[in-house]
Amino acid sequence: MNLMVFGAPGAGKGTQAKFLTERYNIPQISTGDILRAAIADETAMGMEAKKYMDAGKLVPDSTIIGIIQDRLAQDDCANGFVLDGFPRTLKQAQALQKLLDDSGKKLDKVLSFDVPDSQIIERIAGRRVCPKCGASFHVQFNPPKKEDVCDYCGDALIIRKDDNVDTVKNRLEAYHAQTAPLIDFYKDLGIFAPIDGAQELHLVTKDMFEALV
Ligand code: ADP
Ligand code: ADP
Ligand code: ZN
Repeated sequence: MNLMVFGAPGAGKGTQAKFLTERYNIPQISTGDILRAAIADETAMGMEAKKYMDAGKLVPDSTIIGIIQDRLAQDDCANGFVLDGFPRTLKQAQALQKLLDDSGKKLDKVLSFDVPDSQIIERIAGRRVCPKCGASFHVQFNPPKKEDVCDYCGDALIIRKDDNVDTVKNRLEAYHAQTAPLIDFYKDLGIFAPIDGAQELHLVTKDMFEALV
């Protein structure tokens, strides 16, 4: 299964992608997580990307496409993957089509979570993430079993540096201007599955799995 979770920042992509990885035993490929790991390692690429991320702007396409090319070539992607947070521009979507074509693969489904901006702001304001495994929780809507501790790996949860009100506005702007146009791209390919992402978390999960049968 070659899948993609799609939606605005904070729409629930990462949360739902985790359930897909568990059910299908495929890796979650989050460009955001890969970039944050590069920042933690203080690589040159990470330091360059950080400037864009802290400002809530998109990292240049060439950097992102390079990351995805390397990641999709790894062995664990042979039986499928869940793309999370990629592609975010038409250029990235076209590069992905080419990468998949060249390796005789295709995307099976784009699971798109639609959530109004007002709700996005609430979700991002209460988000807590695990710096180790990338899992994401919400203080109110999806609290971890033990306060500030990751359910999956036990690491201490943190607030992402870019999860602040000002940066979120820029990220939503970037989403509407540069990423939302991809909806038509994937509708044209006949693999676009719109899901009401504003529902309670478990109802979104239910609709997502129904879209896959
Ligand atoms: P969210 O989905 O909550 O916005 P991500 O972890 O997916 O968070 O992304 C965090 C930041 O990393 C983005 O605001 C952007 O700066 C950068 N980023 C992640 N993926 C991409 C991408 N595909 N193209 C460009 N920038 C990206
Ligand atoms: P994304 O990966 O799209 O940026 P996340 O999966 O990190 O988004 O979710 C953003 C925040 O919203 C997190 O705090 C998460 O726990 C919470 N969340 C996810 N899905 C829902 C939902 N259906 N209802 C309420 N909160 C949700
Ligand atoms: Zn964790």
